[in-house]
Formats: sequence, structure tokens, C-alpha cells
Amino acid sequence: MTSIIDGKAIANKVSDEVREGSSRLVEKYGEDARPNMTLIVVGDDPISKKLVSMKAKDCETAGITPTVIALSQNTSEEKLLRLIDRLNRDDDVRAILCQLPVPEHISTKRILAAIAPEKDVDGFSARIDCDDYDIAACTPAAVMRMLKESGISVSGRHCVVVGRSNIVGKPMAIQLLLNDATVTVCHSKTKDVGDFTRMADVLIVAVGRPRLITGDMVKEGAVVIDVGMNYVDGKPVGDVDYESVAPKTSFITPVPGGVGPMTRAYLLKNCLRLAELYCRGKK
Ligand code: NAP
Repeated sequence: MTSIIDGKAIANKVSDEVREGSSRLVEKYGEDARPNMTLIVVGDDPISKKLVSMKAKDCETAGITPTVIALSQNTSEEKLLRLIDRLNRDDDVRAILCQLPVPEHISTKRILAAIAPEKDVDGFSARIDCDDYDIAACTPAAVMRMLKESGISVSGRHCVVVGRSNIVGKPMAIQLLLNDATVTVCHSKTKDVGDFTRMADVLIVAVGRPRLITGDMVKEGAVVIDVGMNYVDGKPVGDVDYESVAPKTSFITPVPGGVGPMTRAYLLKNCLRLAELYCRGKK
């Protein structure tokens, strides 16, 4: 029997936790302590714009003050770096996010590296040994919380991560290791991905290829977490072929309504954490 992990429901719980945490900060240190987030979006990509407006709305629901800065498609890298530098030095700004992807003429690596770690709300500069007291990359932290809420322990289990990006695959593997899993990471040069995914007790897929993982690539009773978010004919589709995979699993995340809302919720969690660390530093 398959259980569907409801990302939306858990995300609402996380948002409530953040709202309570935000109220506690304001009660203790005054209105200036209210967490805030500056969201930068560059260019005209409608999906990026929509995501940023959803993130800003999430902030408001969770007692966080959002500021959206929308820059035109032809913004130069220098101009964007200058903006980030100004925000880094502005004591009133507690958290900065630059929505990806940025236009091709801008280096994602340079932009992400420019955001001060103490304001990096995405957690991309998180330490390799990050634990509950640190800022962690949002998607891996969100996945760990979804597993925990579903009563799934990874300790001693074989977890296979497909994808090795700096923002999902690699930090995901580290989070699993920190929780005592045995971890295999597959990528585009892996000879036969199915040979590895079929061995997974817990399979986490973050590739960006619609329905890459099919039923024959999954072990009976596995837990499957689909991070992928692709658009086919305008509709959101995961990296997992839900129809053939779901019947074989014990737990699975849907797309949409799985990891997506949870990643956004962990952005709020990180934002609160940055504000708490700021207040503690000011005490
Ligand atoms: P990315 O930077 O493009 O990385 C993709 C990874 O997949 C790379 O490591 C690549 O290997 C690997 N890969 C590509 N083709 C493969 C194949 N055929 N077999 C095995 N591995 C393959 O992507 P990302 O930023 O990690 O995002 C991955 C997906 O997750 C995307 O669909 C993205 O939209 C989604 N995402 C969703 C959320 C959410 O909140 N739901 C958050 C973040 C990302 P190489 O390293 O060898 O190139």
C-alpha cells in the first residue's frame, strides 16, 4: 500500500512554526527584529516571476516582510553584483535571495558567491557539516523533514540520489550521510542508473528530465522522493514516472504538491533562522 507524502500539509505546518517564531522575535526584540527577505528576479521568465511572487506571498503568511526587486533582462552582471553588495552591507536587510536561473550573460556561480553567508537564505553556502543549528540548503532540508514527518528513518538504509548539482544532489547526499544513511550518488556519466536505483531503499531524484525514472527502475517497497520540476505541455511533471512507479512504493511524493511547497517552506525557516542569529549577535 502506497502512502502519498503531502508536501503542502507539512509546508503549512512549517509556515505556522515560522510565524510563531517570528512573533517570538518581535515580542522579545521589537518590530525591527521581524525577519525580512529581499527577493531579486532578473529578466522576463514568467515561471521565475511567478515563483518569486509565490515566495513573497509565503513570507507574508509566515510573518516575514518581503521586498521584491525586479530587474530587466539586459541587467549587467556588474550591476547585479553592485546591488548584492549594497544589500549585504545594509543592516536592515536580513536575508537575500536571487531567483535562478539568471540570464545567460550572468554567471550564476559569481552571483551566488557574492551573497553574504549570513544573508544567504537559500542556504547555498551552508557548511558541509551543517546540522539543525545551521542554515542548510532548502530542498535537502525540506526532504529530510518530509521523511521525518512520514516516520521514515534513513539510518543504516541505502539511499540513492540521482543528480549531483550543488544546490540539490550534493547537499542532499551530505544530509543523508549526516543521518547515517549509506549513500550512492548517480549522475549523467553513471553507466546504468537503473542498476543503482533498483537497490535503493530510499530514492531521491533531482535531475530535470521528465519521467526519467520508470517502474522497472524501482525496488518493491521503496520510498521515492521526486524533486524534479519540469513543464510538459504547460503542465508540471516530475523526474519520476508517477503512474508506473507509485504502485511499487511504500511512500512517494507527488508533483506538484510534494517537494516544491516544502522547499518554499524551508526558505521561510532559513529566513527566521538568519533573523534569530542576527538578533543573537546584536544582544
Ligand atoms: P541541475 O543543476 O541541472 O543538475 C542536474 C543533475 O542531474 C546533474 O548532476 C546531472 O549530471 C544529472 N543528470 C542529468 N541527466 C541525467 C541522467 N540522464 N541520468 C542521471 N543523472 C542525470 O539541476 P538541479 O538544479 O539539481 O535540479 C534538478 C531538478 O530538480 C530540476 O527539475 C529542478 O527544476 C528541480 N528542482 C526542484 C526543486 C523543488 O523545490 N521542487 C528545487 C530545486 C530543483 P551531471 O552533473 O553529470 O551533469
